[in-house]
Amino acid sequence: MIQLKISPHSKQRIMHTRLKSFLFNKYRLIGILTVVLVFSFTFTSLVSYNVTRTSIDSDAKTKILPLISDNIYSEIQKELLQPIYNSSIMANDEFLVEWVLAGEQDTEEIVRYLQRIKERYGYFSAFYISARTNNYYYYEGILKQIRPEDEHDIWYYDFVRSGRHYDLDVDNDEATSGTLTIFINHRLEDNQGNFLGVTGVGLKMSEVGETLESYRKRFGHLIYLIDSEGLIQIHPDQDLVENTNIRELEGLQDIGDNILRNDDVTHYYEFRTKNGEQTLSARYLPDLDWYLIVEQDQTQALEAARLGLFGNIGIGVVVTILVIGLVVIVVNLYISKLEETANRDELTGLYNRRKMDEILSREIAFSKRYGEPLSLMMMDIDYFKSVNDSYGHHAGDHYLVEFAKVLREEVRLVDYVGRWGGEEFIILLPKTNVEQAKGLAERLRYAVEVMQIESGRGLISRTVSIGIASAQSGKMDVDEIIRHADEAMYRAKQQSGNCVVVW
Ligand code: GH3
Ligand code: MG
Ligand code: MG
Repeated sequence: MIQLKISPHSKQRIMHTRLKSFLFNKYRLIGILTVVLVFSFTFTSLVSYNVTRTSIDSDAKTKILPLISDNIYSEIQKELLQPIYNSSIMANDEFLVEWVLAGEQDTEEIVRYLQRIKERYGYFSAFYISARTNNYYYYEGILKQIRPEDEHDIWYYDFVRSGRHYDLDVDNDEATSGTLTIFINHRLEDNQGNFLGVTGVGLKMSEVGETLESYRKRFGHLIYLIDSEGLIQIHPDQDLVENTNIRELEGLQDIGDNILRNDDVTHYYEFRTKNGEQTLSARYLPDLDWYLIVEQDQTQALEAARLGLFGNIGIGVVVTILVIGLVVIVVNLYISKLEETANRDELTGLYNRRKMDEILSREIAFSKRYGEPLSLMMMDIDYFKSVNDSYGHHAGDHYLVEFAKVLREEVRLVDYVGRWGGEEFIILLPKTNVEQAKGLAERLRYAVEVMQIESGRGLISRTVSIGIASAQSGKMDVDEIIRHADEAMYRAKQQSGNCVVVW
């Protein structure tokens, strides 16, 4: 029995302590949650950005660039190795050797020969330079006599001195007023291996350049060729040809030396220009002693990855705000629910003793401050113990719930109804004088008297004893008014209950 009285109160006290520590932790909870969310979103975004970056890089290295490089390689093969092959055919042609050995008699004959070569393969030029006469024969006759002092002819003396069988040389073609031409030069020797001169063909640079330009347009790759010194030989931008070294190109100052490595493995490099990040593949072409360079602009691919990163971070921010907002709402709801529970009696839903104490202090203070009357009603159900004894504890509980309902229905909204103890209740009536309180008490007493509750084992009907204490313009403190109401109720009990007594 005693447990019934104490248990709800201690429970509420514990809940109140928990509530306070929870309130204290609310901001800590939100802080931790924010840190965790922000950290995880940032982390996953950065990881996914890096994964994308790495895959773009490795795609460029393992798929795109090698493929391009291979394609271009065969293209170059077609465009350059064929003329190299044809020059070697010319250099091994019995007719040419015999014509030279016979003393270069009939110019018409060699012109026809060169013309035939030019036309059959669609070359831009075909030529022979004689070491004996220094004549430069081409498809229309004798172009000139070469001289060591002529800077246009230096290539010839360089080539002869180099001892190489063939050579590629990018130069302006004097026969067509300076068209940029790729010359393939081949040594001509007699059967004893004596040097006779140099023969070969010329390709129009602009045509090879156009092929490369079309690659740039179609795939966005910049393709060009450099010689073993790094000097640009074939490039879509013809101004660079024979003028610019790869070391002078933007972003390539540092890696220029590495590119000229002279092994037959394809090497990959990364570098930056003002346009952004670039990837470069370099491949040595032993037949030409040149390097094939393919550059790929990574900016667009990386831009997409960067956009993805910002998108992820944006989503992260939105989700974080939503989650935190939701948590704040739920936590606040939970706290107010907890507060509400902590203030209420579990069985009847009325204010509990602790809350009534609090309300009473406040209302007494108001009444003192504004000089308003205030009344307090203390009530105790008569012979309630016998309800439990006769109908069971459960039925007793049920009666208490119904009793509380009656109290709530009878009072005004501004009045406070509380459960003071087991079957003791308290009603605080602000701005109510003793007469008004007495009227209400009589109404309540009567309502209880006529109330009948079905218990399963018969109807329960009880009466109530009510004591009233009133404070006129705050002449009382909390303890005093409670004591007075309690004493009045005690007197009502002594008058055999079911009555109202004013202190
Ligand atoms: P009196 O007319 O002198 O007030 O007699 P009484 O039996 O009402 O008073 P007493 O203080 O002797 O007994 C009060 C009883 O109220 C005892 C206890 O079993 C019962 N009680 C207190 N709280 C609860 C409760 O929450 N549920 C139930 N079922 N009974 C309760
Ligand atoms: Mg009692
Ligand atoms: Mg009682």
